[in-house]
Amino acid sequence: LEDLTGPHVTEIKHHLARTFDLRSFRKNQYEAISAAMEGRDVFVLMPTGGGKSLCFQLPAVCQGGQTKGVTVVVSPLMALMTDQVDGLKAKRIDAVYLNSDTSGEELRHIQDCLYSSHSKPSLLYVTPERLKLSGTLKNVLGHLYRSGQLARFVIDEAHCISTWGQDFREAYQELHTLRDDYPEVPIMALTATADRKTIDDILVRLKLRDPAVFEQSFNRTNLFYSVVPKRSVEEMVSFIKSTHPNKTGIIYRNGRDSCEKLAQQLRQKGLNAKHFHGKMGKEEKKEVLNEWKSGKCHIIVATIAFGMGIDKAEVRFVIHFDLPKSMDGYYQETGRAGRDEKPADCILYYSFRDLQTILKLIRNDKDGTSTPASIERQDQAAWAVIRYCENESVCRRTQVLQHFGEKFDKKDCHARCNNCVNASSMVTGDFTEEAKQVLELVQSLQRGQENVTVDHCRNVFKGANIAAVRDKGHDRHPSFGAGKDIPREVLELLFNKLLYLDALIEQSVQTNAKWHTQYVKLGSKAKDFLAGRQTLQLSYRPKTPK
Ligand code: ADP
Ligand code: ZN
Repeated sequence: LEDLTGPHVTEIKHHLARTFDLRSFRKNQYEAISAAMEGRDVFVLMPTGGGKSLCFQLPAVCQGGQTKGVTVVVSPLMALMTDQVDGLKAKRIDAVYLNSDTSGEELRHIQDCLYSSHSKPSLLYVTPERLKLSGTLKNVLGHLYRSGQLARFVIDEAHCISTWGQDFREAYQELHTLRDDYPEVPIMALTATADRKTIDDILVRLKLRDPAVFEQSFNRTNLFYSVVPKRSVEEMVSFIKSTHPNKTGIIYRNGRDSCEKLAQQLRQKGLNAKHFHGKMGKEEKKEVLNEWKSGKCHIIVATIAFGMGIDKAEVRFVIHFDLPKSMDGYYQETGRAGRDEKPADCILYYSFRDLQTILKLIRNDKDGTSTPASIERQDQAAWAVIRYCENESVCRRTQVLQHFGEKFDKKDCHARCNNCVNASSMVTGDFTEEAKQVLELVQSLQRGQENVTVDHCRNVFKGANIAAVRDKGHDRHPSFGAGKDIPREVLELLFNKLLYLDALIEQSVQTNAKWHTQYVKLGSKAKDFLAGRQTLQLSYRPKTPK
């Protein structure tokens, strides 16, 4: 703090300590605040949990510099908005919000305050929709502007303005008029989405003038990243119980039903878990959220509807029990762990076959908004996640950060990812012959017009003496037990790899109105293996290290 300089440093330091009760600034916070106080346009790119709010909340309470008057904060989510306003009020900062819940009476009261000369709030939070539609609000803003009492527009989650991103919001589009309607008012845009194209898009669409740009590394040093094979709920439960007993965590799943089901399974196994998804009623959501925040409920099993604006500092683990839809989303979701900067675990339970579900979701166009281009883009995003999961040789941090255009040297990971940890104990083996045997098995079943699943096929290959295999007479198949000496996890890897390489495919067959079954068939690359033109190497960690 001692080294800080600048025309407003005294006032800024004063509020940091007195108003916000903080000891020091995090990276880029002071610089962004100073630039704002000088009346410049500012763009802040900070990872989730980095401390974006302070960048606009602190200047909003300062009197010096170009900061007199009301700071208008455009924020996309009501939950986030009420949280922030409550937090500010607790610090005795006068802040109000306007959203679709605000009653006419409240609106009139807020309006009176904004018109009065002595009781103006420091911050006014609005949803983009409200800003776009409310004539009353426009009048108030016009009045403030003309009397020099409009300090700054803050666009939180600014990536919502970009059609490149996945969070594009119609009403954010309208924000380009702010510059034209209030040419003298500085704008500050903040986001945690670092995609280069999105950033450029934000700067252009908001018409920022020579902005002070603050970008920082997305590396979250306290998070441990790992990808492990998805086998059973039991394995996850025993991980949680042994590593994070009675600790707070989030488990992400892709479907509402699977959230409910998993939460129930976890409760049966003695964990304190609840589900959360978009189809729940408002009240129910609020209740679950409060129980989680207060620590009454430890684990939330949620769809990504549980997301933006969740600010709980001591989340010790974020688990993805289904494949995330994009690396961007994965980073944001894992970013909710360890906001207190203490160690936290981010674990992705990976099954290649989850990709099918994602691809189906992408094509299940509920609101009729998808185009061939948007489907293609989402497909690519899902495949990027697959590549991340399959790549067990490159440091996970390097891979995650590369997605944000950041070069990261694995030595800076300090073995805080499972690839770096495993690097020393991985062995690589040749499985060309085994791959061929598997494909021959599938080929023979296919010739016999038999429809079987990947699991079934693997059981036959392993020589599992189970009813499902015996019932089909497959215990008498020449390939039965051909892979009996291969450890189960390696066999799983082998099948996944063959699926990944398109040597095997899963064909979806509708068995009744609701259920699709996936049958395994030979894929386009199978012939290369069968003809001996293709080899297969697998890297894995032996259970008992060699
Ligand atoms: P973001 O919006 O970037 O996700 P927040 O503004 O919600 O992050 O801040 C994340 C957490 O970090 C909050 O709990 C906040 O109180 C805390 N925080 C922010 N700035 C500082 C600071 N300078 N010192 C200590 N804690 C901070
Ligand atoms: Zn690493």
